[in-house]
Amino acid sequence: MGAPGVGKSALARQFMTSEYKGTYETNTPEIIEPERNVNVLLDGKESTLHFLDEEQHPNFEAEDLPIDAYVVIFSVSDSTSYNEALNSIRTLREVYRINRAIILVGNKIDLARQRRVAKHDALKMAKKYDCRYTETSAALNHHVDELLVGILSQIREQVSPSAA
Ligand code: GDP
Ligand code: MG
Repeated sequence: MGAPGVGKSALARQFMTSEYKGTYETNTPEIIEPERNVNVLLDGKESTLHFLDEEQHPNFEAEDLPIDAYVVIFSVSDSTSYNEALNSIRTLREVYRINRAIILVGNKIDLARQRRVAKHDALKMAKKYDCRYTETSAALNHHVDELLVGILSQIREQVSPSAA
């Protein structure tokens, strides 16, 4: 999820090149949008993550999709996108009563001099709504692997909390 231009597609594209990518190849051409599959090999176990893009599923709540985790992205250089991300998180938690994992992502941290959203503010908001917070640069492929692995770890934890 996230406002247009925050880097949703760029992050998804970087996921495809992750070193955690499993050995099993799906024939998902790079050009396929909005849905993307990534096989991730973590702790010796391979899982397929299937990403849906909010821009192609604007009414996903009504679609009754089996969603395991929400990745809400904003650009640290764009405070409007941050406010939109917060609204999305509030709506998920307070209106739809979602208690699944939500990961707030501040993307474009390479644009350091254009930063408009402070890390500690985003962290505080994430904590308030029981979300993880992470910062990435899709452009530099910075922290993108960590995000991918973090998404899968959180999904595995909620599937089998005892096995985590
Ligand atoms: P989407 O609309 O959320 O899917 O955003 P896109 O992935 O299409 O990215 C929008 C624009 O931001 C493109 O020009 C990207 O190249 C650029 N972009 C995406 N991620 C980053 C980043 O981490 N840093 C910088 N500087 N630009 C980025
Ligand atoms: Mg896009």
